[in-house]
Amino acid sequence: MPTYDIVIRGGLVAAATGTAAADVGIRGEKIAQIGGDMAGARELDARGRLVLPGAVDIHVHLTSQPGRRNPSGPAWVDDMTSGSAAAFAGGITTLGNMTFLGEGELPLQGLEREGALVRELAMADFVLHPVIRQPDEATLAQIPQLLDHGCNDIKFFISMPGFDLNVGGFLEATARAGAAGLITMIHCEDHAIMARAARDLLAAGRTGMEHYPESRPVVSEVVATERAVAFAAATGAPVYIVHLSSQGALDVCRRAQSAGLPVYVETRPLYLHLTRERFSEPDGAKYVGQPPLREAADVEDLWRGLAQGAIHTVCSDHAPWSLAAKLDPALTVASVRPGVADLETEYPMLYSEGVRRGRISLERFVELTSTNVAKLFGLYPAKGCIAVGSDADIAIWDPELTRRVGAPAFSRTDYSAYDGWEVTGWPLTTLRRGEVVFDGGRVTARPGSGRVLHRGRTRPL
Ligand SMILES: [Zn+2]
Repeated sequence: MPTYDIVIRGGLVAAATGTAAADVGIRGEKIAQIGGDMAGARELDARGRLVLPGAVDIHVHLTSQPGRRNPSGPAWVDDMTSGSAAAFAGGITTLGNMTFLGEGELPLQGLEREGALVRELAMADFVLHPVIRQPDEATLAQIPQLLDHGCNDIKFFISMPGFDLNVGGFLEATARAGAAGLITMIHCEDHAIMARAARDLLAAGRTGMEHYPESRPVVSEVVATERAVAFAAATGAPVYIVHLSSQGALDVCRRAQSAGLPVYVETRPLYLHLTRERFSEPDGAKYVGQPPLREAADVEDLWRGLAQGAIHTVCSDHAPWSLAAKLDPALTVASVRPGVADLETEYPMLYSEGVRRGRISLERFVELTSTNVAKLFGLYPAKGCIAVGSDADIAIWDPELTRRVGAPAFSRTDYSAYDGWEVTGWPLTTLRRGEVVFDGGRVTARPGSGRVLHRGRTRPL
């Protein structure tokens, strides 16, 4: 009988081949056997538990240089160490950080700069997304080289004022990325429409947070999503719409997908659980993201999109602020601190509100949180599935455990946007590459044990 370093015994395993009760044998960093006789130097009892692939949250913001992105105020409060700890507690083993390029910094330089931080601070495994703000010749020239350096995507913001000024450059960037096997991540909101809406609100004195959704209306998301789809149509390059929030924008993507275009969609938990009425609460600013919360009909349609496959991933856009920074009274609808902390809660809530309520199957849950992301971002099958030869990135969940959400245990922020929610289904134990990194409520990994992953070409879903 083969003997392994670790055997996970008796759990319901959501493997690439289907969901079934099986033991899982781990040798070193890899999964060595699924099912059949085996013995383990260490055994983890998973009876009555779910054994799921470690989740891949490809969209987070962990600070590299506090204050740099926000020279006028406080910065995100999590770095790659606290972000990794929060991830492990949430069943996540791989994170994708947005690497904002500095003035004049080229993509490969940005990847090198943040790669050094991963090697120093990270416990989760990381991929890094170079965020292009200036698609100049030197930047464009590096795009075909990125895959050789293990990077399979670029990101840009249609919402930035510089987008329309440089639209030809961004189109060229998308084309070169597609030709080189990369996927292009795009933040879809239209700057001109939003700037005008915010100006009108300020002029009318409607500066309270209850007006925030009007400052970033659905039409600005729809028209920007149409442009992203047009980029895919014009170049044949795959595009990945980050944090889609509205039925209108999702319908644009559905039409594109029906036409066979490589248009992939991410949403995030804010848009699955909350509606715009939250902004009328006295501390409504704590729910602010970009785009804003929408209507109940949008929430229902996003759940349909998850179930039907029009939406491919759920990622947090984890952008953690202290509550005081979010509620700063100097902020208006036109000057918000966008984003919330969500690494510890996003997938338990997706399980609780999705799988347990019958809106999505367990298999779809695994696709949305792990498999699809790993395929699009060049990590599959090392990540994204439980299979022999894959990395032993595994979360053991108790599907019956009910907890009430409070302030995060590992993220350095001091509040949750879901404070008080009752959630059933939580990870108890997380393994990253065969090492137990979270168990019994404690994170045991060492900063610097996380890796920058070398990624392959994007593959269509
Ligand atoms: Zn983001």
